[in-house]
Amino acid sequence: MAEAETLVIGGGVVGASVAYHLAERGARDVLILEREAEQGRGSTGAATGGVRAQFETEINIQMSVYSIDFFENWDHDCGYEPRGYLFFATEPEHFAYLKRNVELQRSLGVKGVETVGPEAIREMIPGMNCSDILGGSFGRQDGFIDPLAVMRGFTECALDGGARLETGTRVLKILTDNGRVTGVETETGRIECGRVVVCTGAWAAELAATAGISLPVEPLRRQIVWARSAEPLPPGLPMVIDLGTGFHFRPAKNSEHELMFAYPDPSERPSFSRGLDDAFVEKIRDRARHRAPWLYETEVVREKCRVGLYENTPDHHAILGGCEVEGLYFANGFSGHGVMHSPATGRALAEIILDGRASFLDVSMLSLNRFARGELLHETAFI
Ligand SMILES: Cc1cc2nc3c(=O)[nH]c(=O)nc-3n(C[C@H](O)[C@H](O)[C@H](O)COP(=O)(O)OP(=O)(O)OC[C@H]3O[C@@H](n4cnc5c(N)ncnc54)[C@H](O)[C@@H]3O)c2cc1C
Repeated sequence: MAEAETLVIGGGVVGASVAYHLAERGARDVLILEREAEQGRGSTGAATGGVRAQFETEINIQMSVYSIDFFENWDHDCGYEPRGYLFFATEPEHFAYLKRNVELQRSLGVKGVETVGPEAIREMIPGMNCSDILGGSFGRQDGFIDPLAVMRGFTECALDGGARLETGTRVLKILTDNGRVTGVETETGRIECGRVVVCTGAWAAELAATAGISLPVEPLRRQIVWARSAEPLPPGLPMVIDLGTGFHFRPAKNSEHELMFAYPDPSERPSFSRGLDDAFVEKIRDRARHRAPWLYETEVVREKCRVGLYENTPDHHAILGGCEVEGLYFANGFSGHGVMHSPATGRALAEIILDGRASFLDVSMLSLNRFARGELLHETAFI
């Protein structure tokens, strides 16, 4: 029977980061199992690569501060481009919320984040209709990364550090005995191991159930409409988010005419569907109409639209760490932030597994048992 000391199930950006951080800490015999023929066919390959520290909860802000610093200083090119994120508010209570968040973000070490008035927004984004905008917040260090480059970088570093990767290997079952992990059953046979880290994104709940663990992670389709504008986009256009509706848009990398739109459609129901819905494209167009000609006088580039799955938890925060089965760990439920938080996640899991707890950052509030204890977190700035 095949053996490994630690199995990382799922070779997306999160599994790759966990394997890298384990290898970096000197963990021997780490094996990544990926069911597809190549990595990146899960959510990581669909992600657009936004990265931001503008969150509401301390833990999300801290995970971002750590991760943005990592992306900025990594010797692997991950495409980090600090173009900024602008949140804008059309309701007084939303503007007040952004102001509170900016204070908290600054107190936690976020650099270059400030509140801005409608005039500053008008100057920042010429041609956008700002008549109903009361103000907003702008984070200079927020911006874009290349999700597949991040995943490949972590994978290369993990393999250099002695980890192994096996693609085309679907895990069917996590094996346990007397409350301990003993291995996994794959389509091609059993692998014995003492530690399993589940990094299977939107598909994690089913696998967790094979070990008797209820993991509250639901798949939710996420559609990104890619369009080409007749007019050139304003130079230096950042990510722009209407806090009231969640409607947002950003320029495509290295393009003066192409951009991506999305919004959290409240009519979307949990499912594994990954098809582009024409009705959604129309809803996006409706939201764009009001803001600027370069947003609605656009042609949809269907072959570049992206559809993938968010892996949502009830409180829109990740689940990091162990559970009642000894040797079984989770890094799941990023609810749309798994790429940007992958550096902090990998380090947290490596420390939890090797030292018993994460010491670079207290991530204990992200443990699975918060749901049983009713200690859910609260973040409304999810998009
Ligand atoms: C359209 C879209 C846009 C997004 N935009 C952003 C963004 O701007 N910024 C950001 O930070 N995040 C974004 N996200 C979220 C981000 O993509 C995810 O949070 C992140 O990719 C999760 O990484 P992962 O490695 O956990 O999951 P995945 O990338 O899904 O990887 C899981 C892997 O597990 C494998 N797997 C599943 N089951 C098994 C099994 N039984 N055995 C073996 N292998 C298995 C899958 O094949 C897959 O490769 C976006 C997501 C979508 C869908």
